[in-house]
Amino acid sequence: MKIFKIEQNRNNPYSQMNDEEFVFRDTMIGYDNKYFSDFNFKERKLIRDFVSYRAYYEEKRRWVNVTDDLYLDYEIKEWIVKIRDNLDDGDGICYPKDKRIELRRQNSKRDMKLVLLHEMIHAKESKFNEYIRQYLSIYLMDKLKSKNNSDLNKFLIKECHVTTYVPPAHSILFLLKSLDLDLRLKKSFGTIFGYSKTFEEEKAKLEYYKKEKEIKD
Ligand SMILES: [Zn+2]
Repeated sequence: MKIFKIEQNRNNPYSQMNDEEFVFRDTMIGYDNKYFSDFNFKERKLIRDFVSYRAYYEEKRRWVNVTDDLYLDYEIKEWIVKIRDNLDDGDGICYPKDKRIELRRQNSKRDMKLVLLHEMIHAKESKFNEYIRQYLSIYLMDKLKSKNNSDLNKFLIKECHVTTYVPPAHSILFLLKSLDLDLRLKKSFGTIFGYSKTFEEEKAKLEYYKKEKEIKD
């Protein structure tokens, strides 16, 4: 009987979550609807520019717009959230294979939610193929450029290299989406990228680690 119970738990990832984690999971589902309509391909411009195409219908003898690729599902409803007192590295981690996001417990729930958004970008990006990743990068670059914010324009180019030295690798798409979220949440640029810290703080931290490593080496 006991063995059956363990088997049952293993098959049902939701049984691994406690009440607090369910609240964060609900937050995640809410964020997915609110902030990731682009990553879910639910934005008209995105569909028009990258998904729909013209096809000729022999019977009707006319060209029509077709969007059959839309049935691709990029939502993360089946994902779970776990909260740990300690994580080996950083404030959050994403396990695409297990469909699980882990957050380090912090005093500030607000900071934990910013970390959740960071991990959600990883989670959603893990579902994309290379073409989708490229479409979304062009779409977001275009969208961000249209904001005509000189600070943002500087970040779009100058800070791209940050992606290469924050382990694990963060893609250009990741950077673009994190800046999009910073803007929408009215946060300083780099907040989502740097787990609630700005780019300057994140870079200072990295410089510190680099120096520490040099001393050790
Ligand atoms: Zn990350």
